[in-house]
Amino acid sequence: MEDFKVRMFKMEPIRVRCRSCGKEIKASAGKPVCCGCSNMTTIKGNVISAVDMAKVVMLNTYNAADYDVSLSPSELEWQEKRNKRKVRKLDFEDRSFK
Ligand SMILES: [Zn+2]
Repeated sequence: MEDFKVRMFKMEPIRVRCRSCGKEIKASAGKPVCCGCSNMTTIKGNVISAVDMAKVVMLNTYNAADYDVSLSPSELEWQEKRNKRKVRKLDFEDRSFK
């Protein structure tokens, strides 16, 4: 079981998706929330835990610097999002060029 501490700078609840079962879970004040599958993706307060954190996708749009622990799965996720943004930007530039 790995723990992933998230420092909350915004008031929106932490949201993650469990890749193992595909379920999206959202932090709930005062009680831990679990996706219910064997990966045991759980949000308790500002701590996300799972049997395999590589199967947990962060859904909140925080900067990677907002996280206490630098874990490769979330970093990969940010990388993916950044790449998608780059593609959109290029599409936009193509349109404006015509
Ligand atoms: Zn799950």
